[in-house]
Amino acid sequence: MTAIDWSRFGEEAIDVFKALLRIPTVNPPGDERPAAEYLARLFEREHIAYQLVESAEGRTSIVARLTGTGARPPLLLNGHLDVVPVEPAKWTHPPFDAVEADGCIWGRGAIDMKNMVAMGAMALVQLKRSGASLARDVIFAGVADEEAGSRHGSLFLVEKHPELVRAEYVLNEVGGHTLYMGDSRYYPIQVAEKGLCWFEIAAEGEPGHGSMPHPDNAVVKLARAITALGDTRLPLHVTPVVEHFLRTLAKGAPFPQRHVMPLLVQPKLAGHLLDLMRRANPDQAKGIGAMLSNTTSPTVLEGGSKVNVIPSRASVKVDGRVIPGQPIERFLDEVRAVIGEGLSINVFDAHDGTVFSSDTPLYRAICGALARHDPQAIPVPYMIPGFTDSFAYARLGAICYGFSPVRLEPGMDFTKMYHGHDERIPRAGFLWGLRVLHELIADFCR
Ligand SMILES: [Zn+2]
Repeated sequence: MTAIDWSRFGEEAIDVFKALLRIPTVNPPGDERPAAEYLARLFEREHIAYQLVESAEGRTSIVARLTGTGARPPLLLNGHLDVVPVEPAKWTHPPFDAVEADGCIWGRGAIDMKNMVAMGAMALVQLKRSGASLARDVIFAGVADEEAGSRHGSLFLVEKHPELVRAEYVLNEVGGHTLYMGDSRYYPIQVAEKGLCWFEIAAEGEPGHGSMPHPDNAVVKLARAITALGDTRLPLHVTPVVEHFLRTLAKGAPFPQRHVMPLLVQPKLAGHLLDLMRRANPDQAKGIGAMLSNTTSPTVLEGGSKVNVIPSRASVKVDGRVIPGQPIERFLDEVRAVIGEGLSINVFDAHDGTVFSSDTPLYRAICGALARHDPQAIPVPYMIPGFTDSFAYARLGAICYGFSPVRLEPGMDFTKMYHGHDERIPRAGFLWGLRVLHELIADFCR
């Protein structure tokens, strides 16, 4: 094995990353095929075996594999190729030009998650070039459609081509970034995701002429339900991952957060403390609140069609998120208790949350890799309020971690980059992550 020339290899990885940023894979509609084909050409040049999988016209995923001795089961590196839409007028630099400015590379997907796509693909390239003998297969999956629920991407692979993506472990997004708390540098590693329950609430009422109001108006009944949901915090369900996360973060936090954070797990105090926190730090309150309870966000309203006609039906779609371990039915009972009788609830999409143990060789290897590259790093397992492709791979029994390493400078809010304007990644932080990820994989699969 020859030593890696990191400055050269880093530039090569940045070129791949920028090329991916310049391919607009906005979902909807997705159109991931050009990005998948770009990666196919890369793997072709490097003589790495790959397969393109298309679930629908243009909805292409790519799966590449380095074959090991089979002594141990595979490791899968996952990255979704699609990105969320942009409002170009709100961006400092055009979102699909991969502009480099102020030490950062700017573009939709810079953090979510073409950085990980590039790092994962280049990890395979480097392993292949080095000729290293691997005990595990290393699989790379660049998948379509994560941003719209994964149906055309990871879920399709899991259901139709499980042999391509079956692995003992998966490394995926939303973790491995620097989180500053006081003088401490944490690296949250995602081990849990909330489940989802998307449902519609419908109110039925007496139709009539708008000139003669009556109390059985479907729109009014629905509005009461929506208001009640908006005003109510659902009961606390503290999980061990979240409790440990808050206690660990509290140790580095300044006064008074240091004392407040551990108290957030107490049912009698949580609501009050979150209200106080909302005034001081609304983003933090929002993030922590979502870790402690099931949540509902009413989003899409449908009602009448003419101003002078009282409709017989009005409905709202609600984005419900469910703490792992909480059955969907129990969550719906919580919703019913808030909105009261007389309305119908119809679930149109749901899946359970996931929790993975952090007591595994891969988790320990992650901590080791972080410690080598940032001796002050404090890794901490955490739960995200959303979901990623990991919920799909979990169906094949994989242990999935959110770990797409990136070193951030103080003041850069990682969570705001997600789906935000001016999404960008520090060049140095990307190169740092590339090296951490590569060494982690090389060591773990040796
Ligand atoms: Zn993502």
